[in-house]
Amino acid sequence: MVDPMTEYDVIVIGSGIGGLVTATELAAKGAKVLVLESYLIPGGSAGYFEREGYRFDVGASMIFGFGKQGTTNLLTRALEAVKMTLETIPDPVQIHYHLPQNLDLKVHKNYEKFLQELIAYFPEEEKGIRCFYDECWRVFNCLNVMELLSLEEPRYLMRVFFEHPLACLGLVKYLPQNAGDIARRYLHNPQLLKFIDMECYCWSVVPAAKTPMINAGMVFSDRHYGGINYPKGGVGQIAQKLVEGLEKAGSEIKYQARVTQILLEKGKAVGVKLANGKAYHAKRIVSNATRWNTFEKLLPPEHLPASEKKWQQRYQKSPSFLNLHLGVKQEVFPPNTECHHILLENWDDMEAEQGTIFVSIPTLLDPSLAPTGYQIVHTFTPSWLEYWQGLTPKEYEEKKEAAAEHLIKRLEQIFPGLAAGLDYQEVGTPRTHRRFLNRLDGTYGPIPRRKLPGLLGMPFNRTAIPHLYCVGDSTFPGQGLNAVAFSGMSCGHRIAVDLGLT
Ligand SMILES: Cc1cc2nc3c(=O)[nH]c(=O)nc-3n(C[C@H](O)[C@H](O)[C@H](O)COP(=O)(O)OP(=O)(O)OC[C@H]3O[C@@H](n4cnc5c(N)ncnc54)[C@H](O)[C@@H]3O)c2cc1C
Repeated sequence: MVDPMTEYDVIVIGSGIGGLVTATELAAKGAKVLVLESYLIPGGSAGYFEREGYRFDVGASMIFGFGKQGTTNLLTRALEAVKMTLETIPDPVQIHYHLPQNLDLKVHKNYEKFLQELIAYFPEEEKGIRCFYDECWRVFNCLNVMELLSLEEPRYLMRVFFEHPLACLGLVKYLPQNAGDIARRYLHNPQLLKFIDMECYCWSVVPAAKTPMINAGMVFSDRHYGGINYPKGGVGQIAQKLVEGLEKAGSEIKYQARVTQILLEKGKAVGVKLANGKAYHAKRIVSNATRWNTFEKLLPPEHLPASEKKWQQRYQKSPSFLNLHLGVKQEVFPPNTECHHILLENWDDMEAEQGTIFVSIPTLLDPSLAPTGYQIVHTFTPSWLEYWQGLTPKEYEEKKEAAAEHLIKRLEQIFPGLAAGLDYQEVGTPRTHRRFLNRLDGTYGPIPRRKLPGLLGMPFNRTAIPHLYCVGDSTFPGQGLNAVAFSGMSCGHRIAVDLGLT
């Protein structure tokens, strides 16, 4: 029953994949949901923009979670919940690494082929390499047999424990562990350990010692199981399809609807207020903004709950990115060029400002995203907001140009002729991320301030404020589209139980 005081069952602030999956899970169960998005289109960091015949992904383009079997294919499942499907294109290689000390290798979807390539560089470590990655599979196999829902829901936990006792015990064992500790148990060669650091850093933005083993188990196994699959038409299609499903299920989304305040009554979240002064009320409020935005911008920062203070002592904002969206002549790329690359010349620079370079060339999988004869190159590298502050508009433009030129020069090492083949170029900085993605300091997400016990410190969806939930990459289990889809499913599940919708 809808309380006459509330217009909606649930309001979701933000239409990132975490917010949309929460909304679609609830809409599929009959809830009346309103999603409020400040931008013009849905998706957040998984959105897109179009320029001169190119369709660029804003951020994510190496997509996990579109597998056909098991239970960890959460993007497939999230779409299915609202009767949607999406055609995807399998990527035979997750990453082509171009690393210091001439370490040049590919992570093939075929597990054994990847191991063989790695072992060829470190033959004396073969046993250790197999033991480390096999242990990752043990984590994945535990996860991949159970339905993944809210860990804050005792009845679900009991059910899953009785159905899969061994898998649950396995996960409990790995929950407080980090990948680096397990890697060091088996591997000794310092260069190989650096490689494992990069394997983690390229999605967790911290080295292996600070990367939770549960997440590592997921990433290092699912790339060989469900594989990496690119959505036809671009990553933006995922959000578009979720919105289509949301609307078909009778719920709604409003764009250019920037929430400026979460409304409280007697300490409970009851609604939201928009920048245009309009207010909406609901029985439950979900924030898909980062925790920093939620608790410091949408709620009075002087009332920061003790649990949030504690979380901020454990986690800090990761850097943002300097992004280059390029249109490049096809002939620059030799046949057999892979879609995703990572380039680093010096191990000491892995975590530095503009150190590691990430590259995606999605048109190698879906040529429809660029004019005929051209490829899209999206390249990005970590960068902090402070690096781009205190500049006049002219200085800002000059600094962007210089940074882009430097990045392209470095990329010429793996793509000779890149500069000469440029047809289109657009530069985004942490300031761009802050502005368009609504993320404080443009951050990619939370990272541990120090070594923490695995994933134990990451909060679930409920918050210290009754009826207010958080979803997305600053909740368990962290960054990445499949991870935030998990967060969205758990959030939807927890709220459905709270509202008696299950
Ligand atoms: C450059 C880059 C590359 C990446 N590459 C990959 C990759 O290859 N693979 C992968 O899996 N992941 C990748 N990621 C990470 C992944 O994109 C994110 O972890 C994920 O998309 C975050 O989703 P989210 O639901 O937490 O929210 P977000 O994507 O942050 O979306 C939040 C939404 O809420 C809206 N919002 C915020 N505040 C308000 C407000 N007050 N009022 C109204 N609306 C609001 C925002 O406008 C936004 O649309 C990448 C990220 C970046 C930045």
